[in-house]
Amino acid sequence: MPDKPKVAFYWCASCGGCEESIVDLAEDILEVAQAVDIVFWPVAMDFKRKHVEAMPDGSILATMVNGSIRTSEQEEMAHLLRRKSQILIAYGSCAHTGGVPSLANQFSKEQILRTVYEEAPTVVNEQKVRPQPRHPYDGTALTLPEFRGLVRSLDQVVEVDYYLPGCPPTPKLLKQAVLTLLSGQLPPKGTVLAPDTAQCDSCPRKESKPADLKITEFKRPHWTQIDPEKCFLAQGIICMGPATRSGCEAQCIKGNMPCTGCFGPTSRVRDQGAKILSALASSVDAREPEEIEKILGGIPDPVGTFYRYSLAKSLLRAKVTR
Ligand code: SF4
Ligand code: SF4
Repeated sequence: MPDKPKVAFYWCASCGGCEESIVDLAEDILEVAQAVDIVFWPVAMDFKRKHVEAMPDGSILATMVNGSIRTSEQEEMAHLLRRKSQILIAYGSCAHTGGVPSLANQFSKEQILRTVYEEAPTVVNEQKVRPQPRHPYDGTALTLPEFRGLVRSLDQVVEVDYYLPGCPPTPKLLKQAVLTLLSGQLPPKGTVLAPDTAQCDSCPRKESKPADLKITEFKRPHWTQIDPEKCFLAQGIICMGPATRSGCEAQCIKGNMPCTGCFGPTSRVRDQGAKILSALASSVDAREPEEIEKILGGIPDPVGTFYRYSLAKSLLRAKVTR
């Protein structure tokens, strides 16, 4: 019997939700597990880095990496898994576009370390001790991964073949991706494995989205009684639908929450935040600068709202680079 194709999973800077989404395959995970040989999946199986290092280059059919890249160890693992894999897939928003961790690119490395190790209200650290990448100990050195100055998406570190978007990707998309890999009928390199249409195109509320949207006030979802049938933007609630790729089956919208943009942009959009900003700016129903400023002032955290998952891949990319 021929060997089964080898697959691997790895996580970098992530919350663990992508790993859970693999388990969310439920009974389908048995079908996947029967079809492939999982050779590396640190969160679930006891394989070590040395086992991957010992594998011949290109011997893994496909590796799915979730999480963005923040540390030297994540960088090294991305390069190692790239070398060992025929196909490398950026799995989930953080690997795809930087995700929530890349919002940290608004702050310098120094600001982050000072906040976490010295100034956070729950920290007592009078000597201002910080973790060091090397620490001499008993004639040897203890080492920690280095904290890099920027959070990057996977393709800002190594070449990526395909992207599975979402926070996390849906089990349906994952299963489809695995079946596509096994079929050998691969789409062009660089493809995002989800429909290339905007959320609004398939949204269950699309009929209630006015062609000529007029926004006089931005409301936060928890401030208002949300109409469960009506387009969020028509209610003055920011919805990233116009700037976001479909394929999630409108999960948030069906749960009466606006889309926050986790599937990233479609192929026609270069910068997800800029796209929604331009859509909203042209819908603000005011003429006087003070009035416009007042309406836009109702958006509490513009970077966190418009670039929640995509700051690393945006044109802005970072507020500071050191
Ligand atoms: S803006 Fe949001 S709620 Fe409105 S149609 Fe688009 S995805 Fe649906
Ligand atoms: S509705 Fe938007 S935020 Fe929610 S899962 Fe879909 S793409 Fe992600």
